[in-house]
Amino acid sequence: MILTRGLTDANFGWYKVPRLGRLDFLTAHSDGCRVEHSSINDAVRFVHEWSVAPKKRQAAVGERMPVAAVRAAAVIHPDPEMRRACLFFLDHYDCDGSVETFRQALRDPVSFVRESALHGLACERCRYEAICVTDVVGDLIEMLASDPSPDVRHKALVALGRFLERDTQAPEAVARTAQSDSDAAIRFVAREMASSGQPYHRSRKAGLRDERRARRTRL
Ligand SMILES: [Zn+2]
Repeated sequence: MILTRGLTDANFGWYKVPRLGRLDFLTAHSDGCRVEHSSINDAVRFVHEWSVAPKKRQAAVGERMPVAAVRAAAVIHPDPEMRRACLFFLDHYDCDGSVETFRQALRDPVSFVRESALHGLACERCRYEAICVTDVVGDLIEMLASDPSPDVRHKALVALGRFLERDTQAPEAVARTAQSDSDAAIRFVAREMASSGQPYHRSRKAGLRDERRARRTRL
């Protein structure tokens, strides 16, 4: 993964007027004042510093993360690898505070960035504060119903599995998915979850394999 590509002034041509939503986001998340381009560079510098730090120093570097800059870069940096890296760092070092950033990144044009955003939103391992189940389940259900990428929908479904007993909307959405998703492996995984009442922990690849095997035994 390329984490260290620097930003030159020319790169900034990328975020132009049609991305107004993102500029608004920047404004909203930097205490009323626009995050300057230099702040995006702060995020890049931080990611670089962390990636070259020896393992035992990484936690200390992480503690000094420039949070506002990393949140901004997670949404507007032109390089999707950098957006994904920033989401990773927010998940590890500022998970509770960055919920709105994760939510914004659910609309990222690149599917692997959306997958990271999903992780940050639904990850309970990296948090100190309790997750707001209703909000997270709502976001996961929306992704499951509308995301064009089956990889992202698979992740949303797996994440939803952890909330089956905590929010009645979760099993309902799983049952709906078992009927209506356009992807056979996703319908299969949802059916497994709905009939067992248990979460599914396996990868999309495994889901595809499981579905094929089930289809063969049925024939
Ligand atoms: Zn996490």
